[in-house]
Amino acid sequence: MPDVRNCRKCGKIYNYIGGAPLCPSCKELDEADFKRIKEYLYDNPKASVTQVSVDLDVSVEKIKRFLKEGRLEIAGDDGNLILECENCGRSIKTGRYCVECERSLTSSLRSAASQFKSELESQSQNTGRSNAFGMRYLNKSYEKKD
Ligand SMILES: [Zn+2]
Ligand SMILES: [Zn+2]
Repeated sequence: MPDVRNCRKCGKIYNYIGGAPLCPSCKELDEADFKRIKEYLYDNPKASVTQVSVDLDVSVEKIKRFLKEGRLEIAGDDGNLILECENCGRSIKTGRYCVECERSLTSSLRSAASQFKSELESQSQNTGRSNAFGMRYLNKSYEKKD
């Protein structure tokens, strides 16, 4: 069943296929804006968001959205005022989290994964050891558990 939605920009009904909630023609305009911003930044690598917004007549909100999607990165100084880390509220230049939060988020994911892995490893080590040491060690580990 098609996912029919109203375009957030022009209100037209369209078949939603993912990404920004815009109809194909608005999405095309959106992409065109993105391309213009990209080209503009190519020529003016240190441009600020305000500058881009004024020069290209693209709303700051839209530029912010591209930034949050991680498609653009701010090189200029006023980038510090535009985006905030969703976790700690610190100013960031692209994406949703600052470098620290990004790192701790990934590392907590990783440590959960490695904990799981070491549990598995210790399990297999125990099995290996009980095989090596025979029945006696197995009995002992039962005692330990209870
Ligand atoms: Zn539309
Ligand atoms: Zn943060």
